[in-house]
Amino acid sequence: MSKVLYTEDMYLKEFSAKVEEIQDETQVFLDQTAFYPKSGGVDCDKGVLIRKSDKKEFAVVFTGKSKGRIYHQIAEPGLKKGDEVIGRLDWKRRHELMRYHTAAHVLSGIFFNEGNVKVTGNDLEIGKGRIDFNFPNFNREIVENFVEKANEIIKQNFPVKITYISREELDNDPSLTKLAMGLPKSITKVRIVDIGIDKQPDGGCHVKNLGEIGEIQITSIKNKGKNNRRLYFTLV
Ligand SMILES: [Zn+2]
Repeated sequence: MSKVLYTEDMYLKEFSAKVEEIQDETQVFLDQTAFYPKSGGVDCDKGVLIRKSDKKEFAVVFTGKSKGRIYHQIAEPGLKKGDEVIGRLDWKRRHELMRYHTAAHVLSGIFFNEGNVKVTGNDLEIGKGRIDFNFPNFNREIVENFVEKANEIIKQNFPVKITYISREELDNDPSLTKLAMGLPKSITKVRIVDIGIDKQPDGGCHVKNLGEIGEIQITSIKNKGKNNRRLYFTLV
């Protein structure tokens, strides 16, 4: 079973690990990892695995999940079970993904608090973000105003707090029911990402302070059915 390191330390850029298993020659499973797999609408980490014995580097071109376990897709075969490696993240990439992820939480918080508008999904990649939301009486100006408010919140540079609560506490906290519904009952300890204006169960990576996000700029807003809209944005 591989230990997930990024939930405890989202700024961990390098770590030691042992190869536990290889599938199809290039899918590498480690005993522990700081690589975030593509999930929850957030793109994955890339980087390198460096074999300790000869310092040979294996590029990680994709990180994914297979049956609940994280695997590292390497560009060429060569690693073997039992190999000791150093995993090093492409930090520029990861930090950008964290900025987009936290920005999506800020938007989700503002949309909900200011207009009772629910964000129903997101897709966060390098250089671009997208959130889907349900807004029956859609009004472009209101959305532009939400984004302006989000940028004001970001400027206040609130810290991002990670806490853990029990399943019972989650089910009994009305402010968290927004996402509690989709969470499998089997999860008993829930990681909460709290950015002040928004609090939600989340297993992903975020910046330490909102100021790291930068500024949200709207790229476009598109129709996606009667009440559903998509907001595309970039960070500068
Ligand atoms: Zn999230």
